[in-house]
Amino acid sequence: MSDLRDLYQEVILDHNRRPRNFRVIEGAIRRAEGHNPLCGDRLSLYLQVEGDVIKDASFQGSGCAISKASASMMTDSVKGKTLGEAREMFDEFHRMVTGKTDPEQNAARLGKLAVFEGVRHYTARVKCASLAWHTLRSAVDAADQVVSTETDHPDGP
Ligand code: ZN
Repeated sequence: MSDLRDLYQEVILDHNRRPRNFRVIEGAIRRAEGHNPLCGDRLSLYLQVEGDVIKDASFQGSGCAISKASASMMTDSVKGKTLGEAREMFDEFHRMVTGKTDPEQNAARLGKLAVFEGVRHYTARVKCASLAWHTLRSAVDAADQVVSTETDHPDGP
């Protein structure tokens, strides 16, 4: 189990060091801002959407390793997905990090995103890991607003 944990940590550290899709999409048609005041994580998310399909996704911002790695992997994961599929991925990711899924099935359902399942033991880290996803949902829903982890889900992290 500790080997597995090391591997997970390695993936997160790698995405933090070399975040994928860390750029601005000029002329992006969807854009949203995310802010996690508890940790100081901030990000801007850009989506290029054609029809119902996310053709490109990118982000910029600053924050802790988990928030950055999560944004890096999220933007990779939603490329080529429809807006509806992206919403489902948000739901699935959110259920995982809040401990509402069966750990044995996380990898099968979320692939490499399952590296974040460990954060469910750390309430503050749940917000870091899910910030990019809350921001994605805002962009997908085309809500032009700042997302805060403190107001988005009154029912919990
Ligand atoms: Zn953070």
